[in-house]
Amino acid sequence: MSASLRVRWRWPLLFVILSIALFFVLRSPPVPPPLTTPAPAVIAPASQPIAAKPIDAPAPEPPPLATLPPNPQLSAGFCDPPGEAAIARTLKANEASDLRRAFTALHTSAFATAAPLFDGYLAAHGNDAQIARVRSRLRAQIDVQEGFSQSTRGTTTLAYPDDALPAPEAWTLAGNIDDALDEAARLTGTERRRPLYAVAYRDRSELLAVTCVPSWAVGVYDGTLRLALDTMKSEAERDRELRHEALHAQLGPVLSGAPRWWDEGLAQYFEEHGKLGWNGAFQAMLRNKTYIPFKSLEGSFFVFEANMDAALAYEQSHAMVQLLVDRNGEAVIARAIELLRAGTKKEALLSALDPSLTEADLLALLERKRPK
Ligand SMILES: [Zn+2]
Repeated sequence: MSASLRVRWRWPLLFVILSIALFFVLRSPPVPPPLTTPAPAVIAPASQPIAAKPIDAPAPEPPPLATLPPNPQLSAGFCDPPGEAAIARTLKANEASDLRRAFTALHTSAFATAAPLFDGYLAAHGNDAQIARVRSRLRAQIDVQEGFSQSTRGTTTLAYPDDALPAPEAWTLAGNIDDALDEAARLTGTERRRPLYAVAYRDRSELLAVTCVPSWAVGVYDGTLRLALDTMKSEAERDRELRHEALHAQLGPVLSGAPRWWDEGLAQYFEEHGKLGWNGAFQAMLRNKTYIPFKSLEGSFFVFEANMDAALAYEQSHAMVQLLVDRNGEAVIARAIELLRAGTKKEALLSALDPSLTEADLLALLERKRPK
């Protein structure tokens, strides 16, 4: 009985449900045709301030920085004691950004703007000895460069004291540095660097106050190209020193991890326009048949504390670059840069360039170059 009722009512019931559904479907508005042009976006007028989104959670902290924000010279130069471990820094987002801004400003004419940024950082991280050292050198630089004038040629801006360097000479010096960068880029086959900040200090005491170069240094490139006017009295001295540091300045941004003998030998090759001027160090090497083993020149010149040893290390490095050029042509220079940029290790560079080269070849070169 109940079964026959279910069968009898099933089809009419289904019909009623479908009719009701169809009624609602037909009543709904038709889908609009697609727009041929997109509706204009609603843009708040520029004059209205855009409300900042509220932030509920603090920004995530960046991973600890194993090395400093961009400042390739800090550890590569003379500033940090050899062997001092890199400081691992755990920084809040705003601290990392302040440090980056400080290091970006540090080697420009706006160097003084880095001071409050370092101060803010050091207020929270007073035990960061590396940054504290940078800050104290910056303090000295701000004092020393008080009242300095400025001259810009090409991409080079030179700051100078006009009581020690007349403006026309500063203009020439800035232009010479800028030209030397062009030439260094061509010689090394590297892309010409962009803005360079250079400073001509009155004397070596000013240079030593703002850097941490050894007492025998007469100029330095530590991100800023720094010269000491009292060490470049003659035209020739000025040319040599600006060319030496300009070579370092050109390679600084593109090359890290070059062996010291290569860096310094090339800078001297460049400063002497590709010639090997004879000097007492070469004379002594020949007379005593002595030299610094190539392997000992791979590290920092820090080990050569005394002026004489440092001078010998520089001179021998110069002779080594000259020897490589004599045997392989000047293209060996761009090739060396290419190898280093491709990851060739410091200690492998010499044998990669000229596998059969020995210290005996160096003495033979000096014998050939010795003035008769
Ligand atoms: Zn140098």
